[in-house]
Formats: sequence, C-alpha cells, structure tokens
Amino acid sequence: MIKVYNTLTEKKEEFIPFEKNRIKMYVCGPTVYDDAHIGHARSAVVFDVIRRWFEHRGYSVIFVRNYTDVDDKIIKRANEKGVPWKEISEKYIKSFEEDMAALNVKEPTFKPKVTEHIPEIIKMVKGLIEKGHAYEADGDVYFAVETFPEYGKLSKRKIDELMAGARIAPAEKKRNPLDFALWKKSKEGEPAWDSPWGKGRPGWHIECSAMSMKYLGEMMDIHGGGLDLIFPHHENEIAQSESYTGKPFVKYWMHNGFVMVNSEKMSKSLGNFFTIKEILKDFSPDVLRFFLVSTHYRSPIDFSFERLKEAKAAFDRIKNFLNAKSVIKNVQEEGKGGAPVDVEKYRKAFNEAMDDDFNTAKALGILFEMIKEINILKDSIVKKQKATTEEKESILAAVSFVREVMKILGFKLEEEKSTNNLEDELIKLLIDIRQQLRKEKKFKLADEIRDRLKQMGIVLEDLPGGTVYRKGE
Ligand code: ZN
Repeated sequence: MIKVYNTLTEKKEEFIPFEKNRIKMYVCGPTVYDDAHIGHARSAVVFDVIRRWFEHRGYSVIFVRNYTDVDDKIIKRANEKGVPWKEISEKYIKSFEEDMAALNVKEPTFKPKVTEHIPEIIKMVKGLIEKGHAYEADGDVYFAVETFPEYGKLSKRKIDELMAGARIAPAEKKRNPLDFALWKKSKEGEPAWDSPWGKGRPGWHIECSAMSMKYLGEMMDIHGGGLDLIFPHHENEIAQSESYTGKPFVKYWMHNGFVMVNSEKMSKSLGNFFTIKEILKDFSPDVLRFFLVSTHYRSPIDFSFERLKEAKAAFDRIKNFLNAKSVIKNVQEEGKGGAPVDVEKYRKAFNEAMDDDFNTAKALGILFEMIKEINILKDSIVKKQKATTEEKESILAAVSFVREVMKILGFKLEEEKSTNNLEDELIKLLIDIRQQLRKEKKFKLADEIRDRLKQMGIVLEDLPGGTVYRKGE
C-alpha cells in the first residue's frame, strides 16, 4: 500500500486512484522567460521520482506538465530585448527541455502549451460566466470568489481574513478584491486572441484547469507543484474547476518544499538563484539528482556548493560499491554458510520507506546501511582471500539491488545514453505515423501498427488528447 500526504486533508492517506491501475497526474510546469533554476529542478525531479515509483509499483501513469508560454513576464522580457514574445517562449521551452533531458526526467505523456489551448480556455470562461461564477468588466473577465464558499480549503485561509488584507489596484475593474482574472484585455502590441469579450489573453490560473481537464478529464488523481503554488494558484484552480464541473477536481494535492539559500527561499526576485545549466558545468546530473532526492520532498532543502560536494562524495560511495563484484571475482570459494548479508531485509525496508509518502531520504539511508554491512564483509573476504558461496552470492545480490533501485530513482549511473529514451522515441514515432495513416483513412495499415505493437507488449490507447502507450497486457 502506498501512502500519500494530501495537502487538502493535511494527512497521509492510502493511495487509491479512480481507475485500478491507472494514475492521472498533472504537475504545473514553468513560465518560460528565463533558464530554469534549482527550484524548477527540484519540482521536476521530485515528481519524476514519484512517477517512476508508481510505475515501478505497477501503475500506468498519464503525466501532464504544461508550459505557460504567454504571460506578463514573457512580454516584459521580450520588450526589454526588443524581440517578438514568441521568440522568448520558444527559446526557453527549448532550454527547459535540454535541462530535463540532462537530468533524466522522463518525458511527460502530454506537454500542453497555453497558446495552443485558447479555444478550451475560452469555452471554460464562457461556462463560468453562464453559471454565474464569473463576470465581464470592460474586456476583462473575473472569477467571483464569493460564489465559491469553499474558497480557501486548500490553503486553509478564510475568505474574511483574506478580504481584510486585500485591495483593488487602481487599474483593476473587479468587484471584490479577491476576484481573480480569467481573461485579460490585451494592451496595444501585446499577444491577443479573439474572444466574446474582445481581444485578449488568458489569466494564469485558468490554463491549468482547462488543460488538465482536456488531457485527464474533470477529475484527476494527483495535482502537484511547488509549495508556493498552493495560494493563490491551486486555490484558484479548485474554485474555477469545481464551480465549472460541480465535481471534486483533484483527489490528492501534492506539494514539494522550497530550495533555500542561507535560510531564504531561492527565487528569481531575490536574485539568489543558480540555474541548472550553471550547476551542471561543475557537477554531473546524477549528483544534482542525488542532492535533490537525499531530502524528503516535502522538507525544505538547503542549497550550497558545499552541500553539493557532500552529495557528490556520498553518490561516489554508491558508484564505487557497484564495483564490489570485481573485488571478489578472483577470491577462492570455500565452504558453506559464513556471514552473508540479508539483502531481502534491506529491500523490504527500502520499499516501505518509498511506499510511505516517497521517503527517499530514509530509503537512501537504508541503502547506505546495507553498503556499510557489505563493505565490512568484503574487507574480511579480501583479507582471508576466500569466501563461502553464500557470502559471494549476498554481495552479488546487494550490487544488483543497488543498481536496480538507483535506476528506479532515475539515476543514469555510468550509461551515457539511456536506451529507454530511444525506445520511447521509436514508439512515439510509430504513434505519429499511425496517426497520419488514420488521417489519410489508411486504417488497415494503422491497425496493423497497433496490433504488432500489442504483440510486443506495447498497448496503444486513443484518448481525447492523443494516443498514449503503456507496457503490459
Ligand atoms: Zn498550474
């Protein structure tokens, strides 16, 4: 049984998805106006490990991560540089994808961009107006917070208390200071789309509701993101989604902790941030991943180059351990019994730690305990220059266990290029070709691709947002 900490209930709960072996998961992605920093890396790696653990436990995961590719910050950056806004967003989507590939973060099943989902967003805004949850004011559309009495249930804030501190800025035309923009009227020279309210662009929060519903349906199992997104972003997502569908939007809300520098949150505005590209000049992606997963995902993590060096030393201990086989290779095998290590005991403890709200910190601690025990055994074998069959076998079992779990946690280890990615790419290529054939009404050939893949244990499934695949029956 997997337990998940749910921000909504503030409790660890048994994880039970809506469909038996299928998980629908949405994680808020970046606003693409600059290179990604360690804060982005943490969120990406945390939810990558969670996804990988679910998959290891036999679930097939539909994973959606969006790109906010139209936003005030992008427009501002474009104006500063004197280039079209689209150039900025495209450049930094590419940069982000380079970082994700370097960090071995699995490709999402879908990576929707806001600018490619304007009709879906307009449909939802229209629906909210029709249901009386939103209103137009001179080309802007706002969500009326007082129409959703549960507002504040995720962030545990009360509407009255929020009201006391809120003010309406002079340029805003909203009725209530807590109301938030669903649609913004565009100013001269800004990106704009036609809408029933004139030329404009979406507000930030509505995109995640509209896109998650398109790819995952009206109710999903997991919605994740950084702690700083709880309020107002996720609170607003709940308000607009549940007002629109009348159904609970998300079963489990999951949030990762901050990255701290000298006890302050790492952020663009404080200027105390390091980009992923900067870090990867001096440290390998595996070391950065190791640094990020050696703290539990909900706890804050202190970033410094000193701590990265410590992470490198610890990670090297694991890598060196994988060579243990060579040490015992030429040792004479003699006798029975001896002092083998109980690898299964460690495996069980590792699994329990991971099943308990993805406690990677504890799980890695268990790995090091076992490595310590094996190293003592190894040293005594080297000294005696002989080992029993059981002793040798336990060392081999320990090495293959460590290799296996490091892969599950997303480490590349010594392999330069993951063959896994090549396989993914080839299957996606076949899916694209099949899609093209279906468009051209060549159904026989399209079906043959599907059937042949099925024989190989790869099942294609046509969903509203596109075709996904899973391995299994
Ligand atoms: Zn979001």
